[in-house]
Amino acid sequence: MKTYDKDSKKLIRVVCNCCGKELTLMDGIPVEDICSVDTLWGYFSKKDMERHNFDLCESCYDKIVAGFKVPPKITDTTEL
Ligand SMILES: [Zn+2]
Repeated sequence: MKTYDKDSKKLIRVVCNCCGKELTLMDGIPVEDICSVDTLWGYFSKKDMERHNFDLCESCYDKIVAGFKVPPKITDTTEL
């Protein structure tokens, strides 16, 4: 979960929603990568137009995707 300063709109805190770990920020930029999920549940869901947003640290991301039946599609962007 990302917390922004109300006035400056600067990112002031990033916490992994899964394990609660606080990621280190340097000048408002996380020094570790995070997986940000932001989804808007539409009318066909039971969540009727709710927007859900969460962030995962890399180790929680790895643990969660390890349980997937179909792994995430991975593209090496250094080759683009
Ligand atoms: Zn975590």
